[in-house]
Amino acid sequence: MKPTLNWQIASITNIKPETADVKTFTLKLPAWMRHRAGQHYDIRLTAEDGYQTQRSYSIASEPEREGEVDLTVERVQDGEVSSYLHDVVIPGDRLEVRGPIGGYFIWEASITDPLLLVAGGSGVVPLMAMLRHRAAVRANNPTALLYSSRSFKDVIYYDELHQLSQANAAPQVFHTLTRSQPADWKGYARRIDEAMLREVAGPLGRSAQVFICGPTLMVESAANALVKIGINSNQIRTERFGPTGG
Ligand SMILES: Cc1cc2nc3c(=O)[nH]c(=O)nc-3n(C[C@H](O)[C@H](O)[C@H](O)COP(=O)(O)OP(=O)(O)OC[C@H]3O[C@@H](n4cnc5c(N)ncnc54)[C@H](O)[C@@H]3O)c2cc1C
Repeated sequence: MKPTLNWQIASITNIKPETADVKTFTLKLPAWMRHRAGQHYDIRLTAEDGYQTQRSYSIASEPEREGEVDLTVERVQDGEVSSYLHDVVIPGDRLEVRGPIGGYFIWEASITDPLLLVAGGSGVVPLMAMLRHRAAVRANNPTALLYSSRSFKDVIYYDELHQLSQANAAPQVFHTLTRSQPADWKGYARRIDEAMLREVAGPLGRSAQVFICGPTLMVESAANALVKIGINSNQIRTERFGPTGG
């Protein structure tokens, strides 16, 4: 039987701006439980009149970090919970949370197959937990991340991804910028498509385990393209963050 996850009160110990619209919140958890890379927490807000609302946020940090987790949240325009987290919450505040949750969109370093990660926007968050986990345990399975952002200033974790890509048995990191690119940009400059996936996934071979996360339309089109280029659909796991295709 699965353990019941109770709500607990986390303390916000740090808030780090990642981009203009994205912040990472460090939550200290009195009932911390080791998570698996790819899982998420639910945050529940309660108004003074008793109105409650809750949303899911992927864990960005690696399972090896004890007692706390990082959640990286993108501000959604007029978003009830993401705007509250961005505009109201400050270090020292307390938040009601429950987790870790999820048993499907999960990668463990004991899986030695090649690993292909495909992200759109804040969909990079659970994939970052996988890369951090991979680095923490010094896994050396062939790994590539293909990460689509609107523009260079929207890329989350750019410096850390660059550092990770320089390490031993490094993951290959490919960026694509869909709306605007710096003058000297050498990465891709269009939405993720079949040709791009063929280039990135090809060297990993047909046995690659695939995780795709981001806006719904991007996730669906990337998954379909990967099946077309010969990856078995049962090797592809997807997670959809939101309703838009943006
Ligand atoms: C398993 C899971 C993990 C998630 N992990 C993360 C994470 O790590 N980081 C993160 O930033 N978000 C994550 N999300 C999305 C998050 O749960 C919320 O949906 C998001 O923050 C919007 O909530 P809100 O209350 O701010 O907006 P709402 O008040 O719910 O929505 C406001 C408006 O924005 C639209 N909208 C809602 N969500 C999105 C979206 N994601 N993109 C674009 N438009 C949207 C709605 O249709 C509505 O018009 C995750 C979702 C799931 C299901």
